[in-house]
Amino acid sequence: MVSGRTYLTGLIGTGIGPSLSPALHENEGTALGLRYLYRRIDIGDAGLTAADTPGLIGSARLLGFDGLNITHPCKQAALSGVSALSPEAEALGAVNTVVFGDGGAIGHNTDWSGFGRSLRRGLPGAALDHVAVLGAGGAGAAVSYALARLGAARLTLLDADESRAAALAASLAPRFGGQHVGHAPLAELTPVLDRADGLVHATPTGMAGHPGMAVPADALRPELWVADVVYRPLETELVRAARKAGCPTLDGGPMAVFQAAEAFRLFTGVEPDAARMLADFERLTSTEQEDHDD
Ligand code: NAD
Repeated sequence: MVSGRTYLTGLIGTGIGPSLSPALHENEGTALGLRYLYRRIDIGDAGLTAADTPGLIGSARLLGFDGLNITHPCKQAALSGVSALSPEAEALGAVNTVVFGDGGAIGHNTDWSGFGRSLRRGLPGAALDHVAVLGAGGAGAAVSYALARLGAARLTLLDADESRAAALAASLAPRFGGQHVGHAPLAELTPVLDRADGLVHATPTGMAGHPGMAVPADALRPELWVADVVYRPLETELVRAARKAGCPTLDGGPMAVFQAAEAFRLFTGVEPDAARMLADFERLTSTEQEDHDD
């Protein structure tokens, strides 16, 4: 039975044609008996830029949207399109979910909580005494924040652009006083990994359009857990090499699903079935793979 109220949501970003978010959200809405629509709003197709994000957020509110997801390259521009920020979105300086309500447009960030939930579920009991995060962009910031919230004692951030790693460490360190959040030059990656319990890879390397591996294979050893945030493909070169080296591994799929599940809950106030969304994601990605194989 479908209930009377219609939820209208969507995604603002560029190159979002292949995004699985519309299917994931709408399928979960249907499974819960909700009338739930999720629209793609591709700023590239519309001849717009990230600077137009605040205006689009305002227009979506006027048009009756309940909420929006925001993705690359609009997550920072969205900060000035909302009337208030969750403490996490403020700490991260990035919004990936906007919820419209009587209080205005509230900006949230569900990337960090999505990663935290994925790590707890996929690598339960993973040691967090020292974790290296490779890639200090938007995803690197979200996973570093999540790791610090999960109690990581020491985080070492690395990036090809060392100033980005330094800036992220400087912005997070004061928020996590008792923990050490530092950075190291990329040339130190192997010695850092020699001392670390885990590695989170958060650069675009390994995506379909950026094949390869940002970590030397000989730095992987069975005592090091490895989590990749890249999820297209799910099995990146890094995940494959880490598995081969005997490392406990986690792919980027569950992070993508759990950030979507949390956004769904914020949009509707209804708790989605995350296990069902994970199964749906696996079905959608395997169908996609079969389409490529044909
Ligand atoms: P970004 O452009 O904001 O940041 C990427 C960072 O990686 C940059 O600082 C860049 O200097 C650095 N970098 C690039 N290549 C490097 C290399 N070889 N060695 C070291 N550093 C390198 O990108 P982002 O938004 O953080 O996205 C990164 C990846 O995370 C993308 O593949 C994206 O799809 C993925 N992602 C996944 C999820 C998820 O839910 N699983 C969520 C967000 C982003």
